[in-house]
Amino acid sequence: MLLTDKFGRRISDLRISITDRCNYRCVYCRSGSDGPQFPEMPIADYLRMARVFVGLGITKVRLTGGEPLLRKGLVDMVRELGQMHTVEGNRLDIAITTNGHLLAEMAQPLADAGLSRVTVSMDAVDADRFARITRVPNGYERVLAGVRAAQQAGLSPVKINCVLMRGFNDDQITAFGRFAREQGVAVRFIEFMPLEEDRVWTPEIVVTLDEILRRMAEFMPLREIGHMGSDTARRYVFEDGLGEIGIIAPVSHPFCGHCSRVRVTSDGKIRTCLFSVREHDLAALMQAGCSDEDMADFICDVVDHKEERHHIGEPGFIPASRTMVHIGG
Ligand code: SAM
Repeated sequence: MLLTDKFGRRISDLRISITDRCNYRCVYCRSGSDGPQFPEMPIADYLRMARVFVGLGITKVRLTGGEPLLRKGLVDMVRELGQMHTVEGNRLDIAITTNGHLLAEMAQPLADAGLSRVTVSMDAVDADRFARITRVPNGYERVLAGVRAAQQAGLSPVKINCVLMRGFNDDQITAFGRFAREQGVAVRFIEFMPLEEDRVWTPEIVVTLDEILRRMAEFMPLREIGHMGSDTARRYVFEDGLGEIGIIAPVSHPFCGHCSRVRVTSDGKIRTCLFSVREHDLAALMQAGCSDEDMADFICDVVDHKEERHHIGEPGFIPASRTMVHIGG
């Protein structure tokens, strides 16, 4: 039995938030005052959930948060995930999304434990701007050291996620282009979505895929390269072949029709869309003593009812029941 929803989408990608704590307070994400809101489960509970999901055809697990590197037991968790095999008998693809602040020390242990890939979030390639965005001093050098440690540990190509907002960091577009070429990383720009704690999103703030391409062309034109059906990013290289850029455009070019994702929050709720207004309490079921088969039936039923698409920017848009930091990006 493989996880599929009623629109025929095969669900193969699980994102697990293992904490909603974060050591950064990025201005576009956090209100600046709120700490964690939801409890964390024991690592063993996430692993049991993951095992059941993998038995239903999940092939990729991404650990996220909050900031996943804050969670004690992370390296052992990755090692345990590394022992799991997909239903086809292949190694599980294990990734982490991190702000990179603790990555310099943890990249090698994570790689040794079986981590396949890492994505590091950076919204500026300038130390002062970086500090103003994250509201943490001296983070930029630490994150750069983390990126280099990840490359040395063989977690290449390291992906860098950058959320662009007009009038805020959109002047960094070409600087990120240079950064991708000089550092050997794949930079991926993400269109800003209405998932922030402060509810400041407007359509005008979003820097769209078309605009990014146009503005990057002032530095050097990009050429699109192959794109897998369920990839969230459209991928490009500079016309001379050096430096990869991805653009994740959920607002201007939604990809819901190819969505292959399901999420588990730090407190063990299933979310079938970033913009879900309903969650499904897998943790409660587990705590009630259900079997793995009961969990699998529950997951199949929940996934069957996955939302067809998001409604960003449409009249009557209902905000998601949680913000990004508490869902897990
Ligand atoms: N702490 C980790 C990190 O910084 O990568 C993982 C969690 S963070 C919420 C995951 C990603 O979501 C980051 O790349 C962040 O920039 C992105 N993000 C946060 N709020 C967003 C929003 N409203 N729209 C688009 N991306 C957002």
